[in-house]
Formats: sequence, C-alpha cells, structure tokens
Amino acid sequence: MTVQENITGPLTTESGAPVADNQNSETAGAGGPVLIQDQHLIEKLAHFNRERIPERIVHARGAGAYGTFTLTRDVSRWTRAAFLSEVGKQTETFLRFSTVAGNLGSADAVRDPRGFALKFYTEDGNYDLVGNNTPVFFIKDAIKFPDFIHTQKRDPYTGSQEADNVWDFWGLSPESTHQVTWLFGDRGIPASYRHMNGYGSHTYQWNNAAGEVFWVKYHFKTDQGIKNLTSEEAAVLAGQDADSHQRDLRESIERGDFPTWTVQVQIMPAEDAATYRFNPFDLTKVWPHEDYPPIEIGTLELNRNPRNIFAEVEQSIFSPAHLVPGIGPSPDKMLQGRLFAYGDAHRYRVGINADHLPVNRPHAAEARTHGRDGVLYDGRHAGAKNYEPNSFGGPAQTDRPLWQPSAVSGVTGDHEAPSHAEDDDFGQAGTLYRLMSDEEKERLIANLAGFIAQVSRDDIAQRAIENFRKADADYGKRLEAAVQALRG
Ligand code: NDP
Repeated sequence: MTVQENITGPLTTESGAPVADNQNSETAGAGGPVLIQDQHLIEKLAHFNRERIPERIVHARGAGAYGTFTLTRDVSRWTRAAFLSEVGKQTETFLRFSTVAGNLGSADAVRDPRGFALKFYTEDGNYDLVGNNTPVFFIKDAIKFPDFIHTQKRDPYTGSQEADNVWDFWGLSPESTHQVTWLFGDRGIPASYRHMNGYGSHTYQWNNAAGEVFWVKYHFKTDQGIKNLTSEEAAVLAGQDADSHQRDLRESIERGDFPTWTVQVQIMPAEDAATYRFNPFDLTKVWPHEDYPPIEIGTLELNRNPRNIFAEVEQSIFSPAHLVPGIGPSPDKMLQGRLFAYGDAHRYRVGINADHLPVNRPHAAEARTHGRDGVLYDGRHAGAKNYEPNSFGGPAQTDRPLWQPSAVSGVTGDHEAPSHAEDDDFGQAGTLYRLMSDEEKERLIANLAGFIAQVSRDDIAQRAIENFRKADADYGKRLEAAVQALRG
C-alpha cells in the first residue's frame, strides 16, 4: 500500500476545539460514572453511529477508479456530443465496478453480473453510461425489476438466497434465458475487474449537428484479455480474500499498470429500427455483429485511485438520465425505468445534494441551477437569484433539447413492446450456447445443474430446464441429465 496521507496539528472536536484527552472519558471521580458534559465522547459515539448510509439495493459492493477516455475516431457524422467532437480529445472519467446481488461486505469473486458504471466529466456536464459486463439483461421491462431482485436477494422467511425463488422467477420469465446462459458460462465470474468487458447494454440515441438520429450500443473490450475463474477457483478465492477484485484494481493502478479498454460502438440508422429482425430496444438481445459491425472509437484508461472509498465510491452516483447534448435515451423499457430509478435511489441514499459532492459534480463544466437548500447544501450560487425567468442576467434555458424527439402513435395501455420478425426468448441464448467450446458447455451445464438441483419442487426445476431446451435441444438434454444425476 503506497498511499498515506497525514493531517498534522493537535486533535480537535468536530467544531475545532482542541481535545485534551482521547483515551479516558470524563467521569465523576476516578471510579465514578461518565459525565454527559464530555462533548468529545458524545460527539465521537454519535458520529460513529451515523457513519453508514443505506447501501445500494443493487450493486452495493463496488470499487472505483478515475481515468481518461481518448477519442480515436471521428464520430461527428453520428453525434454532436462535444466530448466526442475531435480525434485525440481526452475526457476525465470515473468508473465504478460492482457485483449486483451481494451486500456491501460480500465477496468479490462470485457468480454475478458486474456493474460497469462510467461517468464522463464532459464540458457539457456529466455523461453517465451505467452499464454491465454483459451486453444483455434478465428482463426487458423495469416493472419486473423489483420482483426479479427480490428473488436474487434474501428470502423474507429464511434470510438466505433461495434456489426455489431464483429458478421460479427465471423459469416463469423465459426472456431471462439468454442472460442466464451468459451468467453461468465462463464469463459469469471474471478473474478481476480488469479482465472483463463492459457494455452500455441499452440502446441509446445519438444525434448529429444536422439533427439526424442514430441508435447506438457501446462495447468496452478489455485490453488485458478476458480472464475468468471457475466456480471452484472462485469459491476458494472468495473465502480467502473477500476484497480480491477491489484489491487487484487498486494495486494495479498503484504500480502504474493502468488497465485499458478499447471502446467500440454499433451504429444503427434510425430508419432501420422499425423493420430490423430483432426489436433493437429489447435489453435481452444483442445486435449480432454481422448486422452492425463494432466500430472502434476510443480508449479508456484507468489511472488514478480514489483517495477515500466512502466519499468517492460509496457516495458516487450514476444515472442513465445524466445525458449531454448529442446523446439521448431510446424507448427501451428497462432504460426508461432506470432513467427514474437511479436518481431516486441516490436522492434517498445520499441526499438531494448528492450531485454536488466532489466525485459527482461536473469537473469540466459548471452546474448552474435554481435548486437551493436541502440537507448539506453547500451555499453554491450564494445570494444569486434563484428563479427564472429573471431580469438579473441569471442562467436561462437554451431552447435546444439534448436529443431529437421521437414520433409516437397508438393508444395508452400496458403494452408488450412491438414484436419483430425474429424476436423470441430463446434464439440468441441458443446462439451463445453454440459458440461455446465443448469444455465451456460442460462447465455451463455443471454450473446450472448444481444450482437447479437445489430447487425443492420438480415443476419449478422442469420449467427452468424447458427454457434451455427451447434455446437448443442439446443444451436442454444435457442439462436435464445433469440435474437428474445430481438429484438421484
Ligand atoms: P459474433 O461471433 O460476432 O460475436 C460473439 C460475441 O460473443 C463476441 O462479442 C465475443 O466476445 C462474445 N463471446 C464469446 N464467448 C463468449 C462467452 N463464453 N460468453 C459470452 N460472450 C462470449 O456473434 P454475434 O454478434 O452474432 O453474437 C452471438 C452471441 O454472442 C450472441 O447471441 C450473444 O449471446 C453473444 N455476444 C454478442 C455480443 C454482441 O454485441 N453481438 C456481445 C457479447 C456477446 P469477445 O469478442 O470479447 O470474445
């Protein structure tokens, strides 16, 4: 460990008064009870009781680092985003990695998707790309998210994650088959945060100076190479070193071995979306590379560790709604839900002024709002007028939306998203299964079977297996045999 920071001078109370004794509480006589007038003691205990804020309901366990994004290709024909305007341009970033289901103190080396939440401190404000290490997700509509996460977390009666709940939900939500295949394959337990890809996962809108619209997907391909742990290796590592991935990231940056990712995008012209063979806004599907080849646009390097984990990692906030001119949302129903849910989580967890903490505030721009006050308001904008329109030259609207409007039609209702020619819940899961080597297929089957065999009800186990059979007949057959062998 190389980073040491010292503060000098005498110890003080929180209000700055010198502390005479930090070893002995003030008492009535040497053997007597403690006095409430010992402000230093009271303050110390009270501060300690309040050191934790609510942990994130998902992605609680994380590690982060600052870095630099460098644009290597001219993308101005697709987006007018200022930070993507010039080849060679560099933008400061902060990336928070995480697991999803575990609590704050859980182990890093577990089978779970990894969060890949990236903040670009751009000159037009912060742009957050809140992705994962997988290109797809378990569900495609945010209305299912609380139910899904309840099955991943602790059961209200047993207090443990239950195989019954997990497989009941996945079996009844066949759209999860693709992501579950991904998760139980080799990439389900990365060897470190440095040895995995990141994906924006959702489809986003890019719009150029002429107002033309493109749909975009982001890929961050690790330059360290993909490295994974087997279930057995991970079980040992998780037991030996709960902080393995966090430690690996910090130490690699401390020794100057900066991890990098090659940044790629897939670009879809707006007019393709309606007739594309898959719904391009369905988070359970990728855009096959042969349809929309990845285009290399830049490099991401992580090169600076945070100085304080709580201030900069625990209190860091990301939201897919943090967009900048030239970039917008798509009608992806999961994304639409997340546009609300992330900001809401942070307002609850960190507070209404979370955006103004050093890690969260714009670094290359200034936030000029009329929002004031609230818990931990830092007095920004001091006595300036806090309303608009005003006659005092205060900040005013630009009349230029960040993104292009979309045409919509139809009647309101709880609709399923429009179906496209090759949409189903199983095809791409089958494609993924078939691209795996024989050895990886074997490990995938063993990982799945080991978990499904813990399910207490045959109907739940059988329904889960059927989904994999629909993805690929061989996949289902081998899985059923493996589960039967384990259940005896
Ligand atoms: P391609 O052959 O062009 O691409 C295959 C993709 O699969 C590559 O991105 C590769 O990543 C990735 N991959 C390879 N092995 C695994 C694995 N064991 N687990 C997860 N991903 C893996 O085919 P398509 O574009 O037609 O996609 C085929 C399938 O690949 C999809 O159904 C999807 O499951 C998966 N995939 C597709 C991605 C996409 O954006 N099209 C992205 C990631 C996965 P790498 O280059 O890093 O080895």
